[in-house]
Amino acid sequence: MNILVTGGAGYIGSHVVKSLFEAGYNVVTLDNLEKGHREAVLGGEFIKGDLKDRELLDSIMKDYEIDGVIHLAAHSLVGESMENPGKYYKNNVSNGLNLLEAMVDNDVKYLVFSSTAAVYGEPREVPITEDHPTAPTNTYGESKLFFEKMMKRYDEIYGLKYVSLRYFNAAGADLSGKIGEDHDPETHLIPIVLQKALGLRDKLYIFGNDYPTRDGTCIRDYIHVNDLADAHVLAIEGLTRGLESRIYNLGNGEGYSVKEVIETASRVIGKPIEAGVGDRRPGDPAVLVASSDKIKEELGWDPQYPDLETIIETAWQWHKRGGFNENE
Ligand code: UDP
Repeated sequence: MNILVTGGAGYIGSHVVKSLFEAGYNVVTLDNLEKGHREAVLGGEFIKGDLKDRELLDSIMKDYEIDGVIHLAAHSLVGESMENPGKYYKNNVSNGLNLLEAMVDNDVKYLVFSSTAAVYGEPREVPITEDHPTAPTNTYGESKLFFEKMMKRYDEIYGLKYVSLRYFNAAGADLSGKIGEDHDPETHLIPIVLQKALGLRDKLYIFGNDYPTRDGTCIRDYIHVNDLADAHVLAIEGLTRGLESRIYNLGNGEGYSVKEVIETASRVIGKPIEAGVGDRRPGDPAVLVASSDKIKEELGWDPQYPDLETIIETAWQWHKRGGFNENE
């Protein structure tokens, strides 16, 4: 099986490429390296390019006889998406449409899509199941929801089969120490907390402490990036076995507040981590916690690193060694 992974040089993408490779797939990674790291792609072919290049998409699908696509290439920052919405509609929706068109024209039938819990907006009840209404509170979540709607139509009209994986909060790093989270600038909570602990940044702010939660800070469901990656392999396997199009949540069903994440990190590291309190970040729902029973039941997904301490410990090992800088 020949699988194209878009965004395969990114944080989650690089872990997906590694899992696919280890499961015996032929992998072609396409990434524009705007955020990704070439050295994060540990196997298969690598092509530097962009989803807006329709000719390139056609030639990759033909030349490598692509059977399925795992689509992760996207902008993914909630805060930025509320400052520059056009960037999100352009890349995540319009350039994403190029990929769907190229798949149809080249008869590529299987698609696994990297979606997000942000499609739900402020949940009415937690844990969130896949049939919970969608009402994104930020442009990022909305752009992912638009893409899901396009896939649904392309299934109806062209028979494209897809699995949309709605990730909750990806965190942690591969145990090999070769790949991990390395964004520039970094905006995600766990790496920021670890950078603060390492003295690589001056300040750590909790974005709002007046949410209607147990300690006033936002609650999120953190999931280890290797467990996320495994779900992609199960999804592509499922599709090639004839699975109908599906949406699955991916989380651990356990929510931790921003304060609890900082406390857990201090415990793992063995020293206090100082944090101030700042304003709320626009577009942030108070609580996002997943029910992932559906993918467990239907595809046998079985997370290996569900607890927050282990997730933070793997991230800490990666950050302590200096991330990609150390590997250079
Ligand atoms: N957060 C925070 N301080 C930071 C970065 C993030 O308080 O410096 C909060 C953020 O408001 C959210 C949670 O941590 O409630 C997780 O944010 P992150 O950006 O890691 O992931 P997201 O939920 O946006 O996917």
